[in-house]
Amino acid sequence: MAEIQRVLVVGGTHGNEKTGVQCVKALNRNISQFRDRSYTVGTLLANTSAIEKNCRYIEQDLNRCFSNTLLNGEPQNVEQKRAQEINSQYGPKGDDSATDWIIDLHTTTTNMGLTLVVHQNDKPALQMAAYIQSLIPDAVIFYEDRDPAEDNFLGSIAKHSLLIEVGPVPQGLLRWDIFKLTQDGLFHALDFIERYNNNEIPVLPEELHTYEFIEKLHLPRDETGDICGMIHPDVQDNDYQPLNPGDPLFITDEGETICYDGSEQVFTAFVNEAAYYDQAHGLSLMRKKIVSCGSV
Ligand SMILES: [Zn+2]
Repeated sequence: MAEIQRVLVVGGTHGNEKTGVQCVKALNRNISQFRDRSYTVGTLLANTSAIEKNCRYIEQDLNRCFSNTLLNGEPQNVEQKRAQEINSQYGPKGDDSATDWIIDLHTTTTNMGLTLVVHQNDKPALQMAAYIQSLIPDAVIFYEDRDPAEDNFLGSIAKHSLLIEVGPVPQGLLRWDIFKLTQDGLFHALDFIERYNNNEIPVLPEELHTYEFIEKLHLPRDETGDICGMIHPDVQDNDYQPLNPGDPLFITDEGETICYDGSEQVFTAFVNEAAYYDQAHGLSLMRKKIVSCGSV
């Protein structure tokens, strides 16, 4: 029997990221093209309340509601309740999950292109990312080794997961280039699973060049906490670029440059992400990390 039996493609985990929602709807209309696969493909629109209102979330980011603690506690808001519904239908999170693989589709307002996010030390998921990168060389891999119990992302309720993040696209609208790039990434991921089940994975690089999250930086804020500056023009649209101590980073409303005050070279990501403004974050800092795809 094939190892991967049930695959779930998810869109709308963030309700204003329309590309994923559109990919799921298009997949539903054309699901017959996957009829002869060794696994079944299901689809899910995750945060239905937020999709209806065209906002990221109603009360809490749904993609932070899938830790064991929140899944097993009394739900405190609409998203925690929805997370528990999804977990009971498609999980339960852990080794007995009914879902073998979740592919969760996201977009970003930043100039990150196609980013493949692997959140656990999971060899098949890293191989999937490497496989997609071999076909779309500009794709970038984010890798973190999270404790599965504490991993609060939706994909963590399946045995394996990959999050596909594509930009730039504004929240709440569709663009063909972003839709197509997302769909290409998704279809390569589904092709990978077929190859995986049939022991037909092509030779992949031994070492993967990935980025690892360090921290988010706040935008300039005044004494009351109001945002009083923005991303410096030298950094705007420059995701995955080196940022050295002393480099321009922010610019105040008065035009004063604020430089990066860290002590070592880092790399930029999620530069001026609209979804970060709820907490006044301006960007993420990353470090490069080489991960061995064969020995994890
Ligand atoms: Zn998202």
